[in-house]
Amino acid sequence: MLCSDSRDGGIDVIHSEGVTTWDDETDVIVAGSGGGLVGAYTAAREGLSVMVVEATDEFGGTTAYSGGGGMWFPCNPALQRAGSDDTLDAAFAYFHAAVGDRTPVELQRTYVYGGTDLITYLEQDAHFEFDVLPWPDYYGRLPHARLDGLRHTVSKPLPAERLGELAQRIRGPLDRERLGAPTPKCLVGGRALIGRLLSAITAYPHVSLHLNSPLVELVTSNDGVVGAVVEQHGRRCAIRTRVGALLAAGGFENSPALRRRFGVPGDATDTMGAPGNLGLALEAGMAAGAAIDLMDQAWWSPGFTHPDGRSAFSLWFTGGIFVNQDGKRFVNESGPYDRIGKTVVDQIACGAMTLPFWMIYDDREGRVPPVKATNVSMVEPERYVEAGLWHTADTLPELAAGIGVDAENLVSTVKRFNEFVAAGVDEDFGRGEEAYDRVFSGGQSPMVPIDTPPYHAASFGLSDLGTKGGLVTDSHARVLDTDGNPIDGLYAAGNTMAAVTGTVYPGGGIPIGASMLFSHLAALDMAAKRAGR
Ligand SMILES: Cc1cc2nc3c(=O)[nH]c(=O)nc-3n(C[C@H](O)[C@H](O)[C@H](O)COP(=O)(O)OP(=O)(O)OC[C@H]3O[C@@H](n4cnc5c(N)ncnc54)[C@H](O)[C@@H]3O)c2cc1C
Repeated sequence: MLCSDSRDGGIDVIHSEGVTTWDDETDVIVAGSGGGLVGAYTAAREGLSVMVVEATDEFGGTTAYSGGGGMWFPCNPALQRAGSDDTLDAAFAYFHAAVGDRTPVELQRTYVYGGTDLITYLEQDAHFEFDVLPWPDYYGRLPHARLDGLRHTVSKPLPAERLGELAQRIRGPLDRERLGAPTPKCLVGGRALIGRLLSAITAYPHVSLHLNSPLVELVTSNDGVVGAVVEQHGRRCAIRTRVGALLAAGGFENSPALRRRFGVPGDATDTMGAPGNLGLALEAGMAAGAAIDLMDQAWWSPGFTHPDGRSAFSLWFTGGIFVNQDGKRFVNESGPYDRIGKTVVDQIACGAMTLPFWMIYDDREGRVPPVKATNVSMVEPERYVEAGLWHTADTLPELAAGIGVDAENLVSTVKRFNEFVAAGVDEDFGRGEEAYDRVFSGGQSPMVPIDTPPYHAASFGLSDLGTKGGLVTDSHARVLDTDGNPIDGLYAAGNTMAAVTGTVYPGGGIPIGASMLFSHLAALDMAAKRAGR
């Protein structure tokens, strides 16, 4: 319980210097239990008392949904053990070439150069173990792109029994939440990362973890942020923060109102962000005077549409092409998901495209679409057919009629694509030309002819992994006000922070990596502040 029992109701008045009764106090409050747990862990290890408040009934946020839980931390010790010859300067040159000057170069530098120290710091604690999962960078033509994937790290799996009761309190996997699948006995990917963080954090007695406790306001004085209001059991509890508040509460992808307000394309029903990510902490930061940026941006992806009407982040296509409402291709289908999603966003914005778009494929793998990672598993094929999402026909003109696209266009699109397959070159969209395009086809061309009837079409929409606009920070994760000055006592990380990557997604593992790293740096800054350094 955060609220003191002696008080009947909530707090009557909270304003500058106006809180007379605190319900509780701590050095650091961390809102959000995804990447923010790294901040909680660091603060605890550096000797600060920590209160983690999580809005929902489970820890882990979208971080725990990630099957890979990848982190883009170039040159980190796990990669060095794997023999990578990468350098931080090369990684930075790549990152900066991808992001440009859309975000402060110093912030970019902090991210790229900071990850290796973070992994070193974590590996000093036996709770953490990291491994390599090669994953090529997403802009393979840029200078210093890492084509062998050796900038990408994952947590080693964790048997659930090592966590005891807490294992039942970790979000995900998506199939459990959306389809009622059983909870696996071993935590992998993002769940393993969250599990390891929780077990490391609970080794410190001066940390408390609170579920169902959203941070809804910040308490400010002339000195900056001095506390936070957390809702718990229908009551508002005022928590004094002796050192600072870290907002690592994800994005606002699940709030239709905020999506509308900031012009984020796509629907909240199609986001993959965890359900608690409603933007409450972000709004609290804005009310405390924080500057915001990148508010219409998200981490995009093509969305495989399920019978419940929701389109889910999908990747790993072993065949097929995407066509628009005119029956024409519009993108490199094997490219990175964010680049595909961004193309959809751009095409919709300029009026060239409407949703849904279609994956056209033949029968060589049967009628199930050649999509190997739907992130939410497919259900029975009949349900997609009944919902009008999957269509089959003996000929392409019949298929075109079934999905309402121009038959001549579809026939010529497939004919042209098949010619590209035969020639080994996609003259229109360069499919297969970058390393990432070939990652799911063993380094071979990812282009597969469409010539084995019957022909099929599967409906796709636009999905996202979460919004990436948020509070503007400096390189210590200190939140800046609209004049560019740090707001004392206020920090942000992850999707609550305006993304270091600006409008692009340079490599798999950056959303989680940035959330972890800036949470860590926030905690180090708070520890230095506490120590008077
Ligand atoms: C299937 C899938 C796979 C992915 N794979 C990867 C990958 O391999 N690598 C990668 O880098 N990225 C990946 N991503 C994206 C990545 O998971 C997210 O962008 C990232 O985890 C966001 O981290 P975060 O800490 O900002 O937020 P989250 O992990 O979402 O955590 C935010 C937490 O804050 C809580 N919260 C919200 N509001 C409040 C409040 N007011 N008070 C208290 N708590 C609050 C939420 O309930 C949530 O638990 C993937 C996404 C998906 C869906």
